[in-house]
Amino acid sequence: MSKESPPPVVLTCAQPSGQLHLGNYFGAIRHWARLVESHTCFFGIVDLHAITVPYIPAELRKATYRSLALYIACGLDPKKCHLFCQSHVIGHTELAWILGALCPIGQLERMTQFKDKSQRAESSFIGSGLLNYPLLMAADILLYNADLVPVGEDQKQHVELCRDLAQKFNQTYSETFKVPDLHIPRTGARIKSLQDPEKKMSKSDPTQSGCLYLLDPPETLRKKVRSAVTDSGSEIRATEEKPGISNLLTLLSACSGRAVSDLESEFDGAGYGTFKDTVADAVIEAVKPIQERYAEIHEDKGYLDEVFKEGAGKAQQRAYRMLSKVYRKAGFVSRT
Ligand code: AMP
Repeated sequence: MSKESPPPVVLTCAQPSGQLHLGNYFGAIRHWARLVESHTCFFGIVDLHAITVPYIPAELRKATYRSLALYIACGLDPKKCHLFCQSHVIGHTELAWILGALCPIGQLERMTQFKDKSQRAESSFIGSGLLNYPLLMAADILLYNADLVPVGEDQKQHVELCRDLAQKFNQTYSETFKVPDLHIPRTGARIKSLQDPEKKMSKSDPTQSGCLYLLDPPETLRKKVRSAVTDSGSEIRATEEKPGISNLLTLLSACSGRAVSDLESEFDGAGYGTFKDTVADAVIEAVKPIQERYAEIHEDKGYLDEVFKEGAGKAQQRAYRMLSKVYRKAGFVSRT
């Protein structure tokens, strides 16, 4: 990078679930926390996406603050990046509307996540928000003209749609959007469910004891690790036949920074019980600074509002530039 060129822009968004697990941390957030050192990063808490399924307003508000406090506690330093709330920035829904006008309904109906979520809906009500969700996500991405958009595997199809819509807009009006590259970071560890190590650790895990949350009290973490499913035999080795033990080794390696091969040697001949205790200790130790920082800030609404304010200001500047360009290209009369 030459001295004059500004740092590349990274955008990543997540819904305000208010909960993060060790998979999120080791698979994504720890990596983002490093990106802020060399990139201009925008991290969006996308609350408008959260209303596409039934929800409780007061819970959404709490979860949005909790998510922000958790990101900060995980090392996303607001002095080095812009943490913003989607609904604070004008442009997301406006751009989604414009992209919607270019998108055939069939393309939205074919999205796997729409099909899954509408089939799993608890009532017969399926809001059109669920269908239009990928339009809003495409708008989130395109509004920031980012160089890098880290997304999870499960969002692959939505990013493909976003690329299609960017190309379509460029062809219909004229060159406007950078067509974003799919960037699925391979840097983080893939953590599996402790109860079903064939599946990834996830907050939607039917057995909650398979999921280690960053805010779980130490005793809960220990209990969950102790009850993790293991494999037949007694060797502590990372092999395909031993998905449970392999997962615990990955977890220990992520928490301790030590190579899996070193850990295999260290625990050669040790029993599963001793091994699990070490994993539990390492997990508790790894989340301790996160829990401490969270405890300091999560009730400090003044501080969290300030962070949101700064983030919204910076995000709005960037979003407004793009929205004005889009309006102009699409033939809207500019407001004087
Ligand atoms: P989610 O809340 O499931 O959408 O996850 C947010 C991000 O966390 C994803 O984009 C992944 O990069 C990462 N992630 C989620 N679950 C795991 C996991 N079990 N192991 C590693 N990374 C994960």
